[in-house]
Amino acid sequence: MSNADPVEIEKFSQLAHKWWDPHSEFKPLHDINPLRLDYIDRNASLAGKTVLDVGCGGGILSESMAALNANVTGIDLSDKALQVAKLHLLESGKKVNYRKIAVESLAEEQPGHYDIVTCMEMLEHVPDPDSVVAACTRLVKPGGWVFFSTLNRNPKSYLFAVIGAEYVLNMLPRGTHDFAKFIKPSELAQFCRNAGLNVTDLTGMSYNPLSKIYSLGTDTSVNYMIACRRE
Ligand code: SAH
Repeated sequence: MSNADPVEIEKFSQLAHKWWDPHSEFKPLHDINPLRLDYIDRNASLAGKTVLDVGCGGGILSESMAALNANVTGIDLSDKALQVAKLHLLESGKKVNYRKIAVESLAEEQPGHYDIVTCMEMLEHVPDPDSVVAACTRLVKPGGWVFFSTLNRNPKSYLFAVIGAEYVLNMLPRGTHDFAKFIKPSELAQFCRNAGLNVTDLTGMSYNPLSKIYSLGTDTSVNYMIACRRE
């Protein structure tokens, strides 16, 4: 009864050795990282906080939060991605506790343990995102922060995130994203409220293919982040 799609996990495992190459398929994650890191830090101030990064992959966000003096645990279900994440710590000298465990299982083990939970670019790869949102909520302390980012579902996001990124610009391997799994902000906000989170902010993350620059703003039509606090 695992809320994971083995095909999705395998996709990331196949590419894992390239995770820290900023010119690889993971370039978009490297490019958006300073923006999302700043967003999390501005809202929840990372220094000294106990943080869980769900679906951490090779650790781009996990390491950057550790660099701001957060005490970070990263979890994922891809062995290869976690191996890459652990190896990279030897190079960077950062400290992150990486574990292979499902978020639902960790929620049983450590309820209410974390000040901040982040779950970025992962919900659109799982069979039951609602269950992930509920588990993230159980893991955070009352009053603590939970951040999600994912892809919106509409004709523009299909054009940009699937056709543009995978077929025209070849930024991502074909088949990286399954449009049917994209999540509208209203749907994500509903999952959050059902779980007992108050949504405090919704911010768009947009890519300008001409300037090749990402920015945060009000345009949530393709990629977006949501900030929540547990009641
Ligand atoms: N959050 C990271 C990586 C995003 S890539 C970042 O934004 O930089 C998506 C990650 O989600 C991959 O590492 C993949 O292995 C992981 N993933 C997919 N389904 C998962 C699941 N059910 N449980 C945990 N991790 C999952």
